[in-house]
Amino acid sequence: MAEYDVIIIGSGPAGLTAAIYAGRALVKTLVVGGRTSGGQLMLTGDVENFPGFANAVPGPVLMMEMRKQAERFGAEIVDDEAELVDFSRTPFRVKIGNQTHTGKAVIIATGSSAKWLGLRAESHLRGKGVSSCATCDGYFFRGKRIVVVGGGDTAIEEALFLTKYASEVILVHRRGELRASKILQRRALGNDKIRFVWNSVIEEVLGEKSVEGVMVKEVRTGQLSIIPCDGLFVAIGHQPNTKLFEGQIELDEKGYVLARGTKTSVSGVFVAGDVQDYKYRQAITAAGEGCKAAMDALAYLEEQKEVTVSAQEN
Ligand code: NAP
Repeated sequence: MAEYDVIIIGSGPAGLTAAIYAGRALVKTLVVGGRTSGGQLMLTGDVENFPGFANAVPGPVLMMEMRKQAERFGAEIVDDEAELVDFSRTPFRVKIGNQTHTGKAVIIATGSSAKWLGLRAESHLRGKGVSSCATCDGYFFRGKRIVVVGGGDTAIEEALFLTKYASEVILVHRRGELRASKILQRRALGNDKIRFVWNSVIEEVLGEKSVEGVMVKEVRTGQLSIIPCDGLFVAIGHQPNTKLFEGQIELDEKGYVLARGTKTSVSGVFVAGDVQDYKYRQAITAAGEGCKAAMDALAYLEEQKEVTVSAQEN
């Protein structure tokens, strides 16, 4: 068992920014980074909207730099999952493998994960044509036809990225208009390789050993049709990674951490990033919240010291 001042759970932009601030304040800091350290930006191509990079920066490069920066200021990073937390008493306990560490304060920055449609084929054909990550798997679809489902920024970015490899990208969206930002919409609508199938949902994925097509339903008429394709990329949003915290802190009905600023329902446990944010969900907003969470955690540690000192004086 090791004792820390701050334990940060998560190593995306929120977690690593918190680690930079905690490290620079010279408090003993542990980052529980997860088995795939770096968060969702590790699955992203070029990041064009993180300030400071006039010519864009690949997501994994940005995260590697943040990690090195956090380590430079003394944060310890462990590339493993937190399996259990106990926030019922202080110092808080976080179990990683067969070790339990304590933290006087904890920052939750576990982010969110891709949602799936809930079709049987999504599990048995995952890695065999079904994917949620164009950057990871696009290369395998050179010269092939790909269906992307979703109408938000993620779906459009994935569709645009996949045009580098695919012969055709067919974007299936359940409504008649996109939710994605205007600039991405313009790029996608102007791209000859992308065809849109509006007001439609995927009913079934066809193929036993690999994807051979999808059955699509037009939601207004109920008419079914088959789109032959070699790949299905699901890009329908995300869900918060909060299973670990059920019963420990308050969550909302969708599972996001309920927060007032960076404070959770447990004093001394703070939160930052997508795990509590279903609205903005940007790398830059997560980083900003990571900064705030670290500053609030540092203020909390100071207050606790004052409480302890004055209790000893009495
Ligand atoms: P999102 O904005 O929530 O969009 C999800 C899309 O999937 C929506 O179009 C939604 O349809 C559709 N959808 C949801 N559930 C579905 C289902 N069961 N079946 C079929 N379609 C379904 O999610 P996102 O695109 O992952 O973006 C999340 C956040 O990250 C946003 O704030 C976005 O701006 C941000 N983001 C930004 C960038 C960037 O700035 N470059 C890149 C990626 C993500 P409806 O439209 O009908 O609801």
